[in-house]
Amino acid sequence: PEVKGNGGGTEESEKIGKIENRILVFVRLRPMGKKEKEAGSRCCVKIVNRREVYLTEFASENDYLRLNRLRGRHFTFDASFPDSATQQEVYSTTTSELVEAVLQGRNGSVFCYGATGAGKTYTMLGTMENPGVMVLAIKDLFSKIRQRSFDGNHEVHLSYLEVYNETVRDLLSPGRPLVLREDKQGIVAAGLTQYRAYSTDEVMALLQQGNQNRTTEPTRVNETSSRSHAILQVVVEYRVRDGAMNVINRVGKLSLIDLAGSERALATDQRTVRSLEGANINRSLLALSSCINALVEGKKHIPYRNSKLTQLLKDSLGGTCNTVMIANISPSHLSFGETQNTLHWADRAKEIRTKACDTSEDVMAMGETETEQAKLVLELQKEN
Ligand code: ADP
Ligand code: MG
Repeated sequence: PEVKGNGGGTEESEKIGKIENRILVFVRLRPMGKKEKEAGSRCCVKIVNRREVYLTEFASENDYLRLNRLRGRHFTFDASFPDSATQQEVYSTTTSELVEAVLQGRNGSVFCYGATGAGKTYTMLGTMENPGVMVLAIKDLFSKIRQRSFDGNHEVHLSYLEVYNETVRDLLSPGRPLVLREDKQGIVAAGLTQYRAYSTDEVMALLQQGNQNRTTEPTRVNETSSRSHAILQVVVEYRVRDGAMNVINRVGKLSLIDLAGSERALATDQRTVRSLEGANINRSLLALSSCINALVEGKKHIPYRNSKLTQLLKDSLGGTCNTVMIANISPSHLSFGETQNTLHWADRAKEIRTKACDTSEDVMAMGETETEQAKLVLELQKEN
């Protein structure tokens, strides 16, 4: 809804219009889980309409709007999804415009955040039967590429990585931790697998496998860690010859991010951020929180360097990127505190301004990038 078409343009780049220079923020409520029902959960969240969420601590199941209106709080977002929303609805509303933009050589990123168990991985990865945003985005990308394949050559490369405990790992090729380096395109993880994807079918299995490779808590062996951030990067390279037979190269990158559980870690003001610093909590999430605070306050210095996650996401926050956040929440009153934090944080994220722009002109040719990466690999080999 926030993407404005400018209508009537004949140039491809005009067709999609201009995405606003702010982060779009969505909320998705998941259904009440079996365990929550068994524990006697009451519902404390209501999706009032397509944009509004109402949260109240004191309501019983049926009367929250009638009796307790004054004791709760309303939040407004770019869209709010009820527990009946389908994966396709969530994808179409939040991410499909970004996929279109990536084909135009722009960068985009989608974050899912919320407490552990709030539905982040379901939203991002989903299941075989109900694939999530990652898979639907790639499916859509291939279908859009097929529609326009007559006018050039597209290549799609995937990489899937994890930040756990300030260590970056390749989820497609688990092994030694990766080192972050800065090149002309920004921060890159040296040696990260770039998987050339040809169709959607292979991708779901690949991502499921990658997800299996996410670090698990030592104490809960079968459970994916609530402290691991997973980032899928989809790079689309487009090559075409213009009238004068010059090769035009356009590279767009879409980052899809399943953040670590936000419980206790997302502070909305600097005082809380500082008080949390000593505690044993997720440094990357804390750094993300600090960066967002600094961006909201319009600070000159944004502390991206404080964590691996914020370094990797530098161009997804304040940089030249269209950014979407999906806040995942549980309906249960047992998660009230976490839900409240998540909604406050999401509310604050609405204030962030970005500088979304077309990178197609200043992006270097892919050939150079490869040389650059080869150099990094060589450097690394020398070091070790
Ligand atoms: P998180 O990644 O935030 O820790 P999950 O995505 O693993 O949480 O979700 C927790 C549980 O709730 C999972 O069993 C998941 O399948 C289920 N779930 C989450 N969101 C939905 C949804 N929208 N519809 C149905 N089940 C969901
Ligand atoms: Mg998860």
